[in-house]
Amino acid sequence: MPATYETEAVVLRSIRYSEADAVLALSTREKGRVSAIAKGARKTTSRLGGRLQPGVLALVSIHEGRGDLGTIRAASVIDAHAGLWTEGHRLQSAACVLETVMRVMPEYEPSEEAWHLLTRTLALLARAPAPPGPARLDPLVLGCQAKLLVVSGLLPLLTVCARCGAGPPLPAFSAASGGAVCDGCGAGAEPVEPGALAALAQLVGRPLSEAAEALPRESAAGTERLIGLVLREHLGVRLRSAAPL
Ligand SMILES: [Zn+2]
Repeated sequence: MPATYETEAVVLRSIRYSEADAVLALSTREKGRVSAIAKGARKTTSRLGGRLQPGVLALVSIHEGRGDLGTIRAASVIDAHAGLWTEGHRLQSAACVLETVMRVMPEYEPSEEAWHLLTRTLALLARAPAPPGPARLDPLVLGCQAKLLVVSGLLPLLTVCARCGAGPPLPAFSAASGGAVCDGCGAGAEPVEPGALAALAQLVGRPLSEAAEALPRESAAGTERLIGLVLREHLGVRLRSAAPL
């Protein structure tokens, strides 16, 4: 039955739909990830258009039609995360986070944990100065991705062998087996960069605000790779914003 609901939402993506309209992918607090059309959003005079850019947190009113695509009836910005736009690097980091949520979180499955993680990450990105290095290796990006693995039930075993239960050393990783593997169980597993398992565990265990301290810079690429291997194995997802595996 058609109905209109109001929810807090973060714009994940905006795609041109017609001359005047845009289709938005939204992460909503009430319903999880949804798609909705913003009519007239591309007109320069639009009341919606300028507001609903990727990364913006807004209160939106969505009318559910018969199909999968709702229609945005009204929107008011709660936090535009203006700090993201003042420095290119932070906008890129935010884009990595938005893409991850877009690809990892299922449609119509609300998760309060995922919602808090997304809004917290964007708020921190908008406030903190950009660290050196590529945006995709920003500790806040990898910290958010690591915690999304937990939210999605995909966190691999990091401290014992996923095949036999032995303790360290764990020089390899098998996403298919569920985590790190020891020397004896390493057949078919991927080599793991030293420090990456510990860094991923630290990112999971510590608050997002401490991501920079949790992630030694030399372990960032190896940690990104572990996350990428898990997403590829379990969700069939390869993030465009991440380095190729
Ligand atoms: Zn083993």
